[in-house]
Amino acid sequence: MSTGPGPGAAGCADPTGTVGFFLCQAGQRLRGAAIESPRLEARLLLAHAMGCRAEDLLRDPRAPVPPPAARAFAGMLARRIDHAPIAHLTGTRGFWSFDLEVSPATLIPRPDTETLVEAALEAFPDRAAVRRVLDLGTGTGALLLAALTEFPGATGLGIDRAPQAVALARRNAARLGLGGRAAFLAGVWGAAVGPGARFDLVLSNPPYIESTAIPGLMPEVARHEPPLALDGGPDGLAAYRAILEALPGLLATGGLAVLELGQGQRAAVEVLARGRGLAPAGCRADLGGIDRALLLRHRAA
Ligand code: GLN
Repeated sequence: MSTGPGPGAAGCADPTGTVGFFLCQAGQRLRGAAIESPRLEARLLLAHAMGCRAEDLLRDPRAPVPPPAARAFAGMLARRIDHAPIAHLTGTRGFWSFDLEVSPATLIPRPDTETLVEAALEAFPDRAAVRRVLDLGTGTGALLLAALTEFPGATGLGIDRAPQAVALARRNAARLGLGGRAAFLAGVWGAAVGPGARFDLVLSNPPYIESTAIPGLMPEVARHEPPLALDGGPDGLAAYRAILEALPGLLATGGLAVLELGQGQRAAVEVLARGRGLAPAGCRADLGGIDRALLLRHRAA
């Protein structure tokens, strides 16, 4: 039964102050801001504000929204209309088999990046073979922590230039019970690794977007994710050059590096890798069919 449109939002049937009213009004505002799935997002955000599951909201649209939840929802909605990513509003994002705390200091982990974990698992069917893992540009810690959950005998080091990323990755490791096996350091690519340290598995999702392309990315990325995690310099390859220079000195005998690639970068990165004495050892496509995870090994002597 409907009591007619409530005040303030044309066509919203449920009374002011109810779940149904908030969802309807928020959906209209999100649609007006060209957000792709306005109703779904309204539900996700209101559920987060109310501390319940999105599906619970559908059950009782006449339920009142408590004032503190209404205030939290209004704040999140304003940020979402400004195209802040959902993960920045809820503070978490799922990656691999767990949830990670995220912040505007780092890249939000993407499903594409899980391709690197799959590639590493396929390359090391013997899970005990990986003892030491390095993650260059660790951000939230996503890649290192996924590797540590899958290679149970391994310890790892995550490096990031941004001290807030290092702090965030440490919190994520601790929350997942991996704090004892993961160390994190602030520093610049391989230079932060101690002399002589060698790794069975080196992972990296470096910044690989061409600098001039960044303003044209969707506003969620261009305006809300850190340039440090995106900007690959004029040709998008600057970070690969730095990583590949250090890589031969970081890989243990029989070690494998798995680097994330931007679309269309495989050939160029393979050329750079060969120039550093590394051997391309295959590439795994992501779910969209894009060459995403490049495997590199020492060139056989
Ligand atoms: N995959 C990200 C994007 O295209 C970029 C991540 C990166 O530069 N490593 O939005």
